[in-house]
Amino acid sequence: MTTPRVHTSELRGTALANEIRARAASAATELTAAGTPPQLAVVVATDDGSSAWYVRSIARAAAKTGIQCTLVELGPKATAEQIRTSLTALSADPEVHGIILQTPLPDGVAFDDLAAAIDPAKDVDGANPLSLGRLTANLPAFAPATAAAVLALLDRHEIELAGRHAVVVGRSTVVGKPTAQLLLQRDATVSICHRHTKDLAEITRRADVLISAAGRIGLITAAHVAPEAVIIDVGTNPTDDGGLVGDVDTASVQGRVAGVTPVPGGVGPVTTALLLQHTVQAARRR
Ligand code: NAP
Repeated sequence: MTTPRVHTSELRGTALANEIRARAASAATELTAAGTPPQLAVVVATDDGSSAWYVRSIARAAAKTGIQCTLVELGPKATAEQIRTSLTALSADPEVHGIILQTPLPDGVAFDDLAAAIDPAKDVDGANPLSLGRLTANLPAFAPATAAAVLALLDRHEIELAGRHAVVVGRSTVVGKPTAQLLLQRDATVSICHRHTKDLAEITRRADVLISAAGRIGLITAAHVAPEAVIIDVGTNPTDDGGLVGDVDTASVQGRVAGVTPVPGGVGPVTTALLLQHTVQAARRR
């Protein structure tokens, strides 16, 4: 496979997301007919506006796909113990197949510790540290949906990975690290950058495939990219006028690279679709 020289708008995720959702919908219909209606539970312990928007979009997509989405609203004052009790009960509930612990969590409540209470078989967003460990050991596990979406987009656009240099900007447990792991599994040579990385541009310019997951507006400019690079922009940064932009200064890189995903309309819709796909996979395995 060769890297196609494409216009910026061509690395979109919407068509791929529609296809993934259509496949999940047909699996959901079969499961429901067989007496196992798939159910996704989302535990929410925040009143954060953008989190509420994201949860509503998951619930809408689930409803259209024939997956029941149950919101467990614990409120922004929930304690770690209340959240853990809820995750443990959902893990034991045979009618629940997928569980998501929504962020942010109340101040002082640690995500990784609580995510360990999610049954790995229902961990459709790869939040339980066991899931990342299994992924690292090449054992079956759900990858975090965003990391899986990055790979799905690269595959959809036939971007070769084996032997190529992939640079991931960001090392969070939910995005950067699992994305790097999935790229390694595909035989890419992977560099991971973070806030302490010296001369970011010098490293990102050597990327054949650049994944930006920093959450910083305008972090990646023309000075950070090689001419034939493919860029996956994972960043979702709210703007003052209520919009959403990625990490990449798209105007500056446009026409200089092989392709870049738009924000919105790139990684985001594929992430949501994969959460639904993971839920029907989890329901099928029961
Ligand atoms: P996070 O936990 O805040 O991690 C950000 C990472 O970026 C950290 O590793 C940080 O380095 C690194 N970073 C920050 N500024 C940097 C800089 N100037 N230079 C180099 N590295 C820098 O965020 P996250 O949860 O991974 O999310 C990252 C972005 O993806 C956010 O915009 C988030 O909204 C978005 N996101 C999108 C989706 C989707 O479906 N599209 C899903 C999840 C997240 P240190 O480790 O050194 O602090």
